[in-house]
Amino acid sequence: MQALVIEEFGGDLQLKEVPKPKIGPSEVLVQVSACGVGLTVVNLLATPGRVKQYPRIPGHEIAGRIVEVGSQVRSVAVGTRVTNHFYLTCGQCVNCRSGRETLCLASIGNVGQATDGGYAEYVALPERNVIAIPDGVSDIDAAIGSDAIATPYHACIKEAKLKPSDTVLVVGAAGGVGIHMIQMASLCGARVLAADLGQVKMDFIQTIGADLLIDAAKGSIAEQVMSATNGIGVDAVIDIVGSKNSLEQSLASLAVGGRLVIVGSSPAGVYQTDPSFLVDPQRLLHRGLEIHAARYVTLAEIGRTLELIRDKKIKPIVTQTVSLAEIPALHQAIRNGQTLGRVGMIMT
Ligand SMILES: [Zn+2]
Repeated sequence: MQALVIEEFGGDLQLKEVPKPKIGPSEVLVQVSACGVGLTVVNLLATPGRVKQYPRIPGHEIAGRIVEVGSQVRSVAVGTRVTNHFYLTCGQCVNCRSGRETLCLASIGNVGQATDGGYAEYVALPERNVIAIPDGVSDIDAAIGSDAIATPYHACIKEAKLKPSDTVLVVGAAGGVGIHMIQMASLCGARVLAADLGQVKMDFIQTIGADLLIDAAKGSIAEQVMSATNGIGVDAVIDIVGSKNSLEQSLASLAVGGRLVIVGSSPAGVYQTDPSFLVDPQRLLHRGLEIHAARYVTLAEIGRTLELIRDKKIKPIVTQTVSLAEIPALHQAIRNGQTLGRVGMIMT
């Protein structure tokens, strides 16, 4: 089969002919039809030590059709269209059994990092990780639904606990997760302030439907938020950037009792800047502030997200699709910050 393979840390993705994966008794073989391409993969490949074994095939936002099932597989059958949860969990530990599987105590890592992923014609996935795609949802929409849209579901509902009458600030709003975060927060009934950097991104976000745009190129985000909220601040900030500067601005934008939800990650190994940020515990105490770390989503949340897509409550926005062979150039564009919204691969 054709696959994009990385041979060593820092190496290039190379299109190669490799053997089709063999499945174990509790795995399924999926013929890949679509795969999301985003900053998570680009950061993963650029962070020393994340991929522990090479060669490796990346790609974790996968959709396709099951073409083979292992001898112990019972819940899905050949022919089923599926997407996937990309954390490889044990299913048995206290966190897996209490709906917190992203904190699995025995996780071996992720699809596309610890095992081969979806930048290939076929991928082997554990039965536990696949979720049937509802009728009416396309493969590419389901693929990005499993991460770029499910992540906003978890962040808005479980972490930020958004409700009508809340005001929320989304930092990093023009990215693939950000544009769906705006939609999800609006669906929760919140007034949405959307922040990003520069006029091109402002023009793009405007098309998504945020209530107020904040251009970080025009000055401090926190000051702009305070002036837009009569000095009160916002009930929640969802930070999809995760840098020292964005997190300090986010914290300073919160109203009394506000929730900061960290979704984004700016690893020092990739950005050459330490993302550690200053927190004044006195301010935290006096204002009753909360800091939440949103670690991906549960399997059930992916199912709920796919239902929202099916019911047209959330519109998946894929701004560009490429073929398997075109992914390396797309990675370069993502690294250079030249893409807007979510991009993906459709197998041709
Ligand atoms: Zn576990």
